[in-house]
Amino acid sequence: MEKVERNKKENNAGSGGEILCPAFKKCGGCQLLNISYKKQVKNKQEQLSKLLKPYCRIEPFIGMEQPMHYRHKVNAAFDRDRRGNVISGVYKEGTHIVVPVKNCFLENEKADAVIGTVRGLLKSFKIKTYDEDTGYGLLRHVMVRAGYATGQIMVVLVLASPILPSKNNFVKALRKEHPEITTVIINVNDKKTSMVLGDREQVIYGPGYIEDVLCGKTFKISPRSFYQVNPAQTQQLYGKAMEYAALKGKETVLDAYCGTGTIGLIAADKAKRVIGVELNKDAVKDAVVNAKRNQVSNIQFYQKDAGEFMVQLSESGDKVDVVFMDPPRSGSDERFLASLIKLGPKKVVYVSCNPETLVRDLKYLTAKGYQVKKGVGVDMFPFTVGIEAVCLLEKSENRKGQRR
Ligand code: SAH
Repeated sequence: MEKVERNKKENNAGSGGEILCPAFKKCGGCQLLNISYKKQVKNKQEQLSKLLKPYCRIEPFIGMEQPMHYRHKVNAAFDRDRRGNVISGVYKEGTHIVVPVKNCFLENEKADAVIGTVRGLLKSFKIKTYDEDTGYGLLRHVMVRAGYATGQIMVVLVLASPILPSKNNFVKALRKEHPEITTVIINVNDKKTSMVLGDREQVIYGPGYIEDVLCGKTFKISPRSFYQVNPAQTQQLYGKAMEYAALKGKETVLDAYCGTGTIGLIAADKAKRVIGVELNKDAVKDAVVNAKRNQVSNIQFYQKDAGEFMVQLSESGDKVDVVFMDPPRSGSDERFLASLIKLGPKKVVYVSCNPETLVRDLKYLTAKGYQVKKGVGVDMFPFTVGIEAVCLLEKSENRKGQRR
């Protein structure tokens, strides 16, 4: 989109969401489309500073200069409308009715264009969209993932059965329109399910994954890999986490809830040793691959519940200087937090996607000898109500009970 038009759109945000997006309200994707971006950031800053007021002052909220089209991953459900035309878009909230979406405010524009091309190709390739009621038809969803720094594009065609007619020509036709596509994958989902992806995969073009670069490190993204939806802001978020940790090169660092190892790998250059712990098996596999890909050798990953791991670590007598923790929305648990206190790292950098559980956990940690030094919000999800935050905690030197 041209810059002028983009600015016009942003300024129009606030003047009633329907003007900007015909799917507004039906889709539920961007709850804040009717509030100007400036106001959104102000509101989020106020919300966060109110919650963190008992603990610390917060730095200015980090919003986006171009707050649109930030989602690197787009999932489109396919169906036909009453007239039999192919449509693709999102499910109306709480249903399986497809709301047509051609250009979404949040989604990567290239990804939307690829999905549009797929829509256009179906007829000439005689590919039918799948009908959930009758079980007839082939194409269920198209998932597109786009590398933010690399521009590589992955297309996943989710089919109800494994055979795509004239698949090579289909790939050729797609790539003719979009030469940026570096890999195409068929995913077979033959179950009655709300899950987008099924278990079986067949790579029909390219390596079966894309790569992206964040904070100087390269990450492999497979169809199922977890990768933050907004890479531009993820870079800001991780940058703040590193700034808060202020590593000098001699520290032993724990990256708890590490996902595919992103934070730990970025920290590894500035630390003596990094340990990552994560519950999800696939994420840990990706983390190991990512470490090799970046030739990082001072990092080790463990597949375990973070709380359980923390108990073992705190009992082992090992010393950890800095803990990064990035738990899911539910926050951390008491087992983890109690062991964290026992382990007694000098610094804890808490990355949170849910300020309410963040505050709950801060309450626990500050009652047991930690002080919150500073915090900041990063807008990872413009036009939605989501708030991401980072806080730095340090062990108070002058408290009893801090004998380590
Ligand atoms: N730090 C990563 C991932 C953060 S998302 C990144 O920035 O990309 C939170 C992660 O916590 C997810 O990968 C999830 O699988 C993991 N997780 C959830 N519960 C967990 C638990 N009990 N123990 C360890 N990891 C857990």
